Amino acid sequence: LGVDFRTRDHERLTAVKDVSISVAAGGSLAIVGESGSGKSVSMRALLGLLPQNATVHGSATWNEGTSSTELVGLPARQFQAIRGRKIGMVFQNAMQALNPTIPLKRQLTEHLRWHSACTRAEAEKRAIRALGDVGIPEPERRIRMYPFQLSGGMRQRAMIAMALVAEPRLLIADEPTTAVDVTVQKQILDLLVDLRDRGTAVVMVTHDLGVARYLCEDVVVLYSGQVMESARLGEALDRPVHPYTKGLLGSALDLGDPSPLRPIGGNPPDLVDRPPGCAFQPRCVDDDGARCAEPQELITVGATREVRCWRSIDE
Ligand code: ATP
Ligand code: MG
Repeated sequence: LGVDFRTRDHERLTAVKDVSISVAAGGSLAIVGESGSGKSVSMRALLGLLPQNATVHGSATWNEGTSSTELVGLPARQFQAIRGRKIGMVFQNAMQALNPTIPLKRQLTEHLRWHSACTRAEAEKRAIRALGDVGIPEPERRIRMYPFQLSGGMRQRAMIAMALVAEPRLLIADEPTTAVDVTVQKQILDLLVDLRDRGTAVVMVTHDLGVARYLCEDVVVLYSGQVMESARLGEALDRPVHPYTKGLLGSALDLGDPSPLRPIGGNPPDLVDRPPGCAFQPRCVDDDGARCAEPQELITVGATREVRCWRSIDE
């Protein structure tokens, strides 16, 4: 998958470049990377939710049984059978997904009745159950409220309820816990773990490797819109291979570990004028000059890992 944006100065900004990821039914994948690495843009691209100035290249397929649906370029009408129904979404900003002027009850039941054949009474019952499932107390009363009448944490949970009410096969959660306090964060993570254990596939976009470890089996590390490393999560945390993954781990806050944080020096590259070789080279502690200045391929390391760094051949 690739995504270019046309900027105001009529330049081409490449936000996502040759990203290949896959999630199996019931799988759980974390997508991690610094701010601006293309996490949200790639998720929005496969859901057909990017603005007009974006061009999506490549392919994203939804496979079910023997059928395979190409999502890139899928007409809006056909997307309605997948987005919201097969794939539920939770975005960074809860207020983007909930309409502030419509009570929760109407938003949830209309969403549900749009995606599955059920009566108004059944829809209301399922909506109340969904609110209860995400830990909203007194869901019968709260379902009558408007989003603005709820606290931030409660709104975030209502948005997750909205994503789950139609029982999707895959949930894409983009930083679902950044705006909430740690107690609510724990509740939301437990909810997602529970969901995963019941067979829903989960893609979790997060800055927080602790969050990723709690929930996910696999991880994809993005940098400047490219996959730098993809691996089993435990494997990547215990033995990161790409210097960027190592840098991310060194800059992650671990309360059990007294060693000081080592933030990665420098800044991400300009996505309009990308470095010709490895995008991470200007910041890399292992920069080797010439070989790193050449474009880097993803290299398979072992059975379950790919790394975009020529040094990983030795691993
Ligand atoms: P964060 O962790 O801050 O959410 P992210 O990894 O989700 O970061 P994206 O939102 O995917 O980052 O953005 C990737 C790049 O695409 C950024 O450089 C951003 O400026 C650019 N971008 C996103 N939306 C647009 C747009 N509508 N027009 C132009 N550029 C955009
Ligand atoms: Mg984002």
